[in-house]
Amino acid sequence: MAKGILFVVSAPAGCGKDTILEKALAKEINLCYSVSATTRAMRAGETEGISYYFKTREEFEKMIADGELLEHTEYCGNYYGTPKQTVLETLELGQNVVLKIEIEGAENVKKLMPEAVLVFILPPSMQELDRRLHKRGTEDEETIAKRLKQAEKEISFAVNYDYVIVNDDLNKAVRDFVAIVDAESFRTNRNKEYIDLLKNFTVK
Ligand code: 5GP
Repeated sequence: MAKGILFVVSAPAGCGKDTILEKALAKEINLCYSVSATTRAMRAGETEGISYYFKTREEFEKMIADGELLEHTEYCGNYYGTPKQTVLETLELGQNVVLKIEIEGAENVKKLMPEAVLVFILPPSMQELDRRLHKRGTEDEETIAKRLKQAEKEISFAVNYDYVIVNDDLNKAVRDFVAIVDAESFRTNRNKEYIDLLKNFTVK
């Protein structure tokens, strides 16, 4: 059985990565979501073990020391990290896994696992991103300005990713992501074992 593919999705806040992944995962494609660990406080509507594994700084630092994380980073004053064992075991079972992580984590994953497929979600324009951040109504002007500056920085990293998706139309962006997952699974180098199996099979 071929190993699963590791997908990594990054996007600046307001680009719709949560919704795109939610909709793609609901399509029953071969894709599992990897739940990260974090030290940030739980937000309304979030659930332990589904949104994140919520940890204290001490607990998180122990996970780092024990080598339990595939990658981790400090983002906006909080730790975020990907639990290693679940990801590796799921890939071994032939299931594709998706990580929804920021650019530094994505870069580290690519260094560790060059076969990982990196997908960056872009806004249609910076004006539209500004409009969407205002529409959410969850942040004040100063925070929105900070998020836009951060978005500019993050977008400059998109050139290091394997694919970019422009989230102009949500349903199309979901289709685009599913198309990437499908196309990657059809790559010849991911099907070598199957080709060998067929090649070596003699009909009696
Ligand atoms: P939030 O606090 O809004 O849920 O996430 C903040 C940022 O951290 C987002 O860009 C999110 O994708 C990223 N993030 C979430 N989990 C991880 C992780 O395990 N590792 C890294 N490097 N980033 C993560």
